Amino acid sequence: MTKVGETVLEIDLRALEHNYHYLRSKINPSTKFLGVVKAFAYGSDSIAIAKKLESLGADYLAVAYTLEGVALRNAGIKLPILVLHPQQVSFATMIEKCLEPSLYSPAILSSFLKLAKQLGQKNYPVHLKFNTGLNRLGFGEKDMEFIASSLEGAEQIKISSLFSHLAASEDMNEKEFTLAQIQLFEKISSQLITKLNSQPWRHMLNTSGIINYPEAQYDMVRSGIGIYGFGNEASEDEKLIPVATLKTIISQIHKIEPNESVGYNRAFVSNTSIVTATLPLGHADGIGRQYGNRVGQVSVNGKLAPIIGNVCMDMIMVDVTGIDCKEGDEVIVFGKKPSAEFLASSAKTITYELLTGISQRVKRIYID
Ligand SMILES: *Cc1c(COP(=O)(O)O)cnc(C)c1O
Repeated sequence: MTKVGETVLEIDLRALEHNYHYLRSKINPSTKFLGVVKAFAYGSDSIAIAKKLESLGADYLAVAYTLEGVALRNAGIKLPILVLHPQQVSFATMIEKCLEPSLYSPAILSSFLKLAKQLGQKNYPVHLKFNTGLNRLGFGEKDMEFIASSLEGAEQIKISSLFSHLAASEDMNEKEFTLAQIQLFEKISSQLITKLNSQPWRHMLNTSGIINYPEAQYDMVRSGIGIYGFGNEASEDEKLIPVATLKTIISQIHKIEPNESVGYNRAFVSNTSIVTATLPLGHADGIGRQYGNRVGQVSVNGKLAPIIGNVCMDMIMVDVTGIDCKEGDEVIVFGKKPSAEFLASSAKTITYELLTGISQRVKRIYID
């Protein structure tokens, strides 16, 4: 590991490669693999990750919003890019940049059909999203007639795929619910395929879906958290390698006497003599206030040091009493050990939130 001298997010592209091959080993060789790179590739760096996925042979990429896809195109990414949650105002940009919309409601479908026609498109690839129980986005069974009649003679678009999203693929207590979602998707998608007399691909599995319901892999799977090194359960985390390591450095050490306080609003008052280390990252970097007051811990020379007092915008103070350390020493906020899962769960949140919250202010460095 390199010494970095400031707060950095280290992105290990070899770990991405490992995770990609591991997840691929869980599905049939012919099943396509879509890498989800929304939200700056889960807080890492969407361009670096997309380039690596492209070189590894991934079949597709997905982002949530149009501008995320524009950034990838501007960086020269050639893979097809599915935009999971586009809005009508961005459709012209999508077409200009060859980004493929998920169409999820009658209004969105009609609007895209109209614009694609105006712009003289032929067979523009689109994806239809179905709601099978998450109740977030997607057509329902009731929309089947509308879809079929809208698509009749509509040569401006081509339905590349039909898809749906699982609500609780990581939770085996919800197995029955998940199987019902899969069944409903099977029913809706088969009906539509006979009506369309074309053969769009089908896909519905996210990372935990790949692990727990591989029988529903259809033609493609969509993995996000897994390629970044997390499997939503300890036994899978063991087989994956975290891509991102958040490192920082000890800026200053203080000896705190009894009755002295540390940080804003004097949220921590010491009743003994302690030693604190001030670290150059705070809530503006993505370490939220929920980690303050001994909730979150970081690793200082291999020992856990709790965050004390309130998290500041640009700094946190950690208790390093009894830990052999000095100013300039490296600190691991999360990485292989302790993991982002360990830190996130300390504040009762999930790795998805912690990772995607690491702000753009934090310098990214790369290992390949
Ligand atoms: C974010 C997202 C995914 C990726 O989910 P993971 O649990 O990170 O693998 C897949 N599909 C859709 C529709 C998503 O929004």
